[in-house]
Amino acid sequence: MFNLTSLVRPNIRGMKPYSSARDEFQGEAQVMLDANENSLGSAGPDQFNRYPDPQQRAVKSELAQLKGVRPEQIFLGNGSDEAIDLLVRLTCVPGQDSLLILPPTYGMYEVAANLNDVRVERIQLTPDFQLSPEIVAGVVASEAKLVWLCSPNNPTGNLLHAQYMEEILRGFRGLVVVDEAYADFAPTASWTTRLDEFPNLVVLQTFSKAWGLAGLRLGMAFASSEVIGYLNNIKPPYNVSEATQRHALAALHDAARFEALRLQLLQGREWLQERLPALPIVAEVFPSDANFLLVRFHPDATALYDFLVARGIIVRNRTTQPGCAGTLRLTVGTPAENEQLLQALREFAE
Ligand SMILES: *Cc1c(COP(=O)(O)O)cnc(C)c1O
Repeated sequence: MFNLTSLVRPNIRGMKPYSSARDEFQGEAQVMLDANENSLGSAGPDQFNRYPDPQQRAVKSELAQLKGVRPEQIFLGNGSDEAIDLLVRLTCVPGQDSLLILPPTYGMYEVAANLNDVRVERIQLTPDFQLSPEIVAGVVASEAKLVWLCSPNNPTGNLLHAQYMEEILRGFRGLVVVDEAYADFAPTASWTTRLDEFPNLVVLQTFSKAWGLAGLRLGMAFASSEVIGYLNNIKPPYNVSEATQRHALAALHDAARFEALRLQLLQGREWLQERLPALPIVAEVFPSDANFLLVRFHPDATALYDFLVARGIIVRNRTTQPGCAGTLRLTVGTPAENEQLLQALREFAE
C-alpha cells in the first residue's frame, strides 16, 4: 500500500544531486587541488582548511553500531530541524499538499510547513495528551503527506501509546515521522528497532538533549535506505561541518559521560516530581519520559512565569498551547538550579 516513489515530489524523483569534489574523489592523496581549498592551512586555533566528508561516514559508522542500524539508514543534519525541513520539502508540493500535526506538539513542524507553503492539518491529542481510536481513525483517513508523532511529546513529556502509533504506521498512506528527541530519557525501546517492519517510518533523534550538545547542531534521521537516499540527494552537500563531525565522534567515544549525564537528569526529574505536587500552587504535574516537566499551576501561571523571570529563572510559558492552559514547561537543570526553582516556587506560593 505504501509507495515511496509516488510520495516523493515529482521534481525530486529524478533529481541529480550536486556532486562535490569530495564526492568525486574520496581516497587519500598527496596533492589535493580539486576543491579550491586553502592548502596552506587555517586562520584560528584548529585546522579546518579541507571540506568535510559530505556523507559523514566516520560518524555514521559509530552511530550504526550504537543504534543497531545500517549506515545507509542514517541521515545527519544541522540539528533535527534540518531533517524536519527536508522531509517536508521531499514530500509536499508547495501550495498543494498538506502535513498533519497532533497539537500540542513541537512548533518546528508548523514553521517548516509555513516556510514551504504547505497546509497544516491538525488533530488535537486527548486531554491527557494521548492518541485514541478516534484520533487514529482521523490520521489514517487523512491525505496528508506526512504525520508527525512526537514521542516523548514536547511540551507534554509523555510517550504516545505504542499500539496506536503502530495502527497509524499500518494505516496512514504518507510518511510517519516519530520525533524521539527525548527517547534517551524514556524506558521504552526506540522505534529505530522497528525500521525493517515499516517502510513509511522515519525516526528523528538529536545530540541536543541527552548528549548535551545543543550548541553543536547535530540531528539524526533513521529510515529505510530509500528514504535516506532521497534526503541525501536534496541536502546541502556539506551540511554537517568538520568541527561537528570531529566533536560528535569524540562524544560517541565517551559513552560513560553520556550515561552519567542521562542518569543525573533522570534523578533531577524524579527530585522535582517528588516535591512539586506538595506546593499549593501546583494543580497537576504531568507524567514525563523526558528531561522536562509540564506543570499546571493555579491561579495564574503567567503571573508565576513573570515572577520567575524577575528572579532570573526562565521557564517556558505554554499557557496558550492547545490543551495546556495554566501550564509552564520546566527543564530539569543542575541540582542547584532545581533547588533554586523550587525555592522560587515556594516564595510565590506564600
Ligand atoms: C529539542 C527538540 C528537537 C531537537 O532539535 P535540534 O534541531 O536537533 O536541536 C527536535 N524535536 C523536538 C520535539 C525537540 O523538542
